[in-house]
Amino acid sequence: MTPDRICVDVLLPLRLTGEVSYFLPEALQDAVDVGSWVTVTFHGRRYLAVVSRKGTLEEGIDPSAVRDIDEVKTGLPLISKAQMDFWRSIADYYLCTLGEVFKSACPAQFFRQVEKKRSLRKKLPQYESKPEAVLSAAQQEAMASIENFFHKGRKPVLLDAVTAAGKTEIYMALARKTLGKGRGVLYLVPEIAMSRQLEQRLGAAFGEKLLIWHSRQTPAVRKDIYDKIVSAGEPYIILGTRSALLLPHGDVGLVVVDEEHDSSYKQADPAPRYHGRDLAVMFARAHSADILLGSATPSLESVYNSRTGKYGYVELKERYYGEPEIRTVLIDMNRAWTAHDVKGSFSMKLVNMMREALDRKEQIMVFRSRRSYSSYVQCPHCGSVPRCPSCNVALSYHKFKNVLSCHYCGYQTAYEPVCGDCGCEGLVLRGAGTEKLEEELQQLFPDAVVARFDADVTASAREEKKVLDGFRNGDIDIMVGTQMITKGFDFANLSMVAVINADTIVSLQDFRSDEKALQLLAQLKGRAARRGSAGSFVIQTWQSDYPVLKDAAAGRYDCDSLLEQRRVFSFPPYVRMISLTVRDRYEGRVFRMADEIKSLLSKLPGIEFMGPMTPAVNKVQGYFMVVFWVKLAKNASAKAAKQRVAALVAQMRGYMKPPVDIVVDVDPY
Ligand SMILES: [Zn+2]
Ligand SMILES: [Zn+2]
Repeated sequence: MTPDRICVDVLLPLRLTGEVSYFLPEALQDAVDVGSWVTVTFHGRRYLAVVSRKGTLEEGIDPSAVRDIDEVKTGLPLISKAQMDFWRSIADYYLCTLGEVFKSACPAQFFRQVEKKRSLRKKLPQYESKPEAVLSAAQQEAMASIENFFHKGRKPVLLDAVTAAGKTEIYMALARKTLGKGRGVLYLVPEIAMSRQLEQRLGAAFGEKLLIWHSRQTPAVRKDIYDKIVSAGEPYIILGTRSALLLPHGDVGLVVVDEEHDSSYKQADPAPRYHGRDLAVMFARAHSADILLGSATPSLESVYNSRTGKYGYVELKERYYGEPEIRTVLIDMNRAWTAHDVKGSFSMKLVNMMREALDRKEQIMVFRSRRSYSSYVQCPHCGSVPRCPSCNVALSYHKFKNVLSCHYCGYQTAYEPVCGDCGCEGLVLRGAGTEKLEEELQQLFPDAVVARFDADVTASAREEKKVLDGFRNGDIDIMVGTQMITKGFDFANLSMVAVINADTIVSLQDFRSDEKALQLLAQLKGRAARRGSAGSFVIQTWQSDYPVLKDAAAGRYDCDSLLEQRRVFSFPPYVRMISLTVRDRYEGRVFRMADEIKSLLSKLPGIEFMGPMTPAVNKVQGYFMVVFWVKLAKNASAKAAKQRVAALVAQMRGYMKPPVDIVVDVDPY
């Protein structure tokens, strides 16, 4: 018996519900404490782990099954209790394991390949410093109200600011004050690769204090930043994406969540499936930091929270450069078609407006939600449509590469214009994507320079830069693109934005669809005439009486009516929602599991649910799926109800052999 041997519990970067115990060799006892990093062997593999408890072996554990730790890992920061508590609260809230949270916050995740090979020292960017901007009266007033909320009750504050109101200057002024007090700043954006301009502005203001954090950086750069954060000398400002919340920060005094409505803040896979905005609120609470959420089209969640008094609310409705004149035109394609007023994908009305803009030497942005040349191809004889072998979805045709490609799993096959079913020649290309629009525009305007900006182009950083620079310095006249063109750009000479086939941005399967469509259209509209000069915004659609499109055309972002719909149909933010996705390679197993879950869910008190539902694309990468939406009332018993759902999932994960996967998503987007 060795009852007094010191043992440690460690967190492993694996989907385990609890910690694992190891003995601590006597020689290492002084070198290891709670928060230390160690390496251990678990099921024959070595892992980097963090010590969460130091003491004697807990009762009930067989000492003969417990191994020694392998070694102590130096050169990594001690994980504080606050940090670990924060990880625990993430696991609790998002119904995942602590190990999954640890894995996503583990430095191995951030700079796997670099350890000890530090030859790739990257030069820090040099920013040209600029004098501090003078805030307008409206900006000063907004800033005073924000600070007032901060002082009063340390509430999160929602800044509802129209596009081009100059909210960035407010963020910067608040950041400067926070740094002045010796505390750090976390400035979150949905996708940093899109906001080089912001990086330049913050760099000009904060110089070396600015650190950039996002997934497109090299591991070596990430390691440098990680070390800087950990060394915690001078306070810093981090401009980063959601994963910046998981870094081991020291003292942070202010968190800014810019474009808080953006669904890119949501982590889809793997767990923890957190929302950057909501996690930022938890983070601020844990760090006693102030937090500011900003948007021109706030999420219904944040509007709701500010109406119920949970968040402070500050409005900024005055544009910094004065009111731009934006003419909005809604074009009914059915009518244009009947009048033979259409050329390919474009109505003649739009073509004429574009020609006028080009004649004035102004630039145009054309938005289409689908990339590729055509979203599907079809045999005109037997009607057959080539589909992905692993996903239940039609293949898109990419003319540039001459391939058919699946946008869900990346599968590609060479394009042959012969029907695979009946052998007939001459397939028809249907559903014009960005590539097709680019071609059509080039034919319509042979003298104009047309370029495309979508995932196919930005796959290469060089191509991405080429197109953006070209558009910025006026070499490109028309830029065709997907969602990517909506974010963070400020092009002074852009005077016209056109949305083609606006119908496709409204999907009936998503309860947030109307909100997202309105936000997207408002963002696009904001791109035209950024500097107070006149511009136009054109929406071309086959459903011109769809309410959301009419609202967007009228420039309305009507939170009240959107909230009312959510209330009536009991959707978030009026209830808490958890989605459960059952997935397996065999459809029969998915259905059997779904039946069992359905019968168990209907016995749980305090919950409502919908499902099993078959998603529009019900098979991806060879996995069949069905979905449940579980709704919990927002009241005192919500926590208990959530735990019952978690217990049900845990029970069902072991229901079949081999287990059927259940993906749990709290607050799905
Ligand atoms: Zn596929
Ligand atoms: Zn055929």
